[in-house]
Amino acid sequence: MLAFLIAPAADAQPQVQDQAQPQPATAPAAIAAPQDRPFPGHIALRIDATDLDRHIFTGHETVPVPAQLSASGGDMVLLFPKWLPGDHSPSGELDAFASLVVNAGGTRLGWVRDPVDVYAFHIPVPRGSTSLDLDFQFLSPTEPKQGRVAMTPAMLSLQWNNMLLYPAGYFSRDITMDASVTLPAGWSFGTGLDVASTAGAVTHFKPVPLNTLVDNPMLAGRYFRREDLAPGAAVPVHLDIAADRPDDLAITPDQLARHRALVVQAQRLFGSHHYDHYDFLLSLSDELGGIGLEHHRSSENGVEPGYFTEWDKMAPERDLLPHEYTHSWNGKFRRPADLWQPNFNVPEQDSLLWVYEGQTQYWGKILAARSGLISRQEVLDSLAYTAATYSTGIGRSWRNLEDTTNDPVIASRRPIPFRSWQRSEDYYEEGALVWLDVDTRLRSLTHDSKSLDDFARAFFGIDNGSYITATYQLADVVKALNTVAPYDWAAFLNARLFATGPQAPLDGLTRGGYRLTYTDTETPFLKSEEANRKYTELSFSLGVALKSDGTVRGVIWDSPAFKAGIVVGTQIVAVNGLSYDADELKQTLKASLTDKAPIQILLKADRHYRMVTVDYHGGLRYPHLERTGTGPASLDTIISARK
Ligand SMILES: [Zn+2]
Repeated sequence: MLAFLIAPAADAQPQVQDQAQPQPATAPAAIAAPQDRPFPGHIALRIDATDLDRHIFTGHETVPVPAQLSASGGDMVLLFPKWLPGDHSPSGELDAFASLVVNAGGTRLGWVRDPVDVYAFHIPVPRGSTSLDLDFQFLSPTEPKQGRVAMTPAMLSLQWNNMLLYPAGYFSRDITMDASVTLPAGWSFGTGLDVASTAGAVTHFKPVPLNTLVDNPMLAGRYFRREDLAPGAAVPVHLDIAADRPDDLAITPDQLARHRALVVQAQRLFGSHHYDHYDFLLSLSDELGGIGLEHHRSSENGVEPGYFTEWDKMAPERDLLPHEYTHSWNGKFRRPADLWQPNFNVPEQDSLLWVYEGQTQYWGKILAARSGLISRQEVLDSLAYTAATYSTGIGRSWRNLEDTTNDPVIASRRPIPFRSWQRSEDYYEEGALVWLDVDTRLRSLTHDSKSLDDFARAFFGIDNGSYITATYQLADVVKALNTVAPYDWAAFLNARLFATGPQAPLDGLTRGGYRLTYTDTETPFLKSEEANRKYTELSFSLGVALKSDGTVRGVIWDSPAFKAGIVVGTQIVAVNGLSYDADELKQTLKASLTDKAPIQILLKADRHYRMVTVDYHGGLRYPHLERTGTGPASLDTIISARK
């Protein structure tokens, strides 16, 4: 602004610029790229996880110095893992990594963080040093707004990548880690790692490559329960449960049977396994940070404390385990080539997340239904909600589905003002609709003799027993689909992934024998979703989702609320002259069908009050799936348990 005020008069002579213009500073030397060569020796990693009051993990690490560097002395670069598998983004919690002290042979060495790559630490290694001793801490967030709380008085989630440094210049699979952990006395744990020995509270694990260590976190807890999900099977599968309170661990025989059925149904789907044992790490907590993170032979699943004890209210939570389990096949074993990384500091590229996450989201719902974790009606209600959400959200008009695979890097799940327009990680749920489209198309092309089950078996089920990651590209997906049923799959996928336009991909529902419809009654599934997440869902009528005090948590672009200037963060204080009440607002919306008067809404944003008029007469609207046609519906066949 100031520049305009002091702009020279039109006839002033331009000032001659004699000084040299700035030039970029010389960039520091690049960090050594990873090479596929063995790192000599084992790195010993000792974690103390007993400081429950302060949520502090304390680490000690002994890193061998390669012989050549030992002979010459010089710079050794150690890396903190930055790009984490499953997060699809540079999410390593570097800010919580603290107290780093490096010693060699009892002499303290300085360390310097790389000025460009702040995840890299330069260590000046004296000649003759054979190993480095590192001491550090991982300071777990102590409240959710700092990040994911990884330790509570009753449980902890130990993610090795947050509490280690590793040498630059090597593939992570070429670095051998020898890890141990000290837990609070009397605690139990679950992990995909194999135990070498236990002495008191110290557990020592068998040496594994770095990528395997990072892929095998630990869930430990004071109140713990372990259930066998594959009794008598050659390849064990367990459910390891930690809870805030011992009462929450009360899994009923029926609930156990449904979780066991998940293992059976997944085996029938994929016809293979890519682990030698598998552990579901299940935390029932409203204190430990929520999580849903896949691994090759385990998964981290964070759910509400009442997952078992308030089973009837938890339907929306119950596709989490099927989702994360599916990832053992789709994501961990088969992985997009551009997402595979030689070490944790090479950027991941997310272009195929619509397969990695989208098809996993699809199988998560389908396997949940096939195993009885959710009922037929609940999966239909879940699909109705997804279909309505993506029909209402019209960000597709400017941003195609494939582009949303960049969102983990762009937005990292930060709150945004106009989610339905900006789009988010839509490749999950809209991706699932695309795969329903593919599934029903395969069925119609083959007169119901083939389906996406055949694709899953052919694509993810190869090399039974192997857990060496097999990478793929888009062309491989197209080829595998063509093997199941010849069709122009490239054009089919292109139209759904790369095109823009307002229409959600609902052809799968139509072909599946259903159509999206709206009534003034919520499904029990949506009611549970609202209760668990503590909000009121009016996205399909007024165009808002509201917190319990009327504060807007979501607004639909181009909706009546949007047109009235209602945005996220504003609070609905009163409706038609009466203070906000969720049930009364619903009644007002219901009456809007016949009531010709517009709705008067008093808004509050910070100190500003504003009255807006919403001339809405569409009634209260909630999504449902309605059966079309007669005879067996394709979608009903899809969600039926496989014999
Ligand atoms: Zn996932």
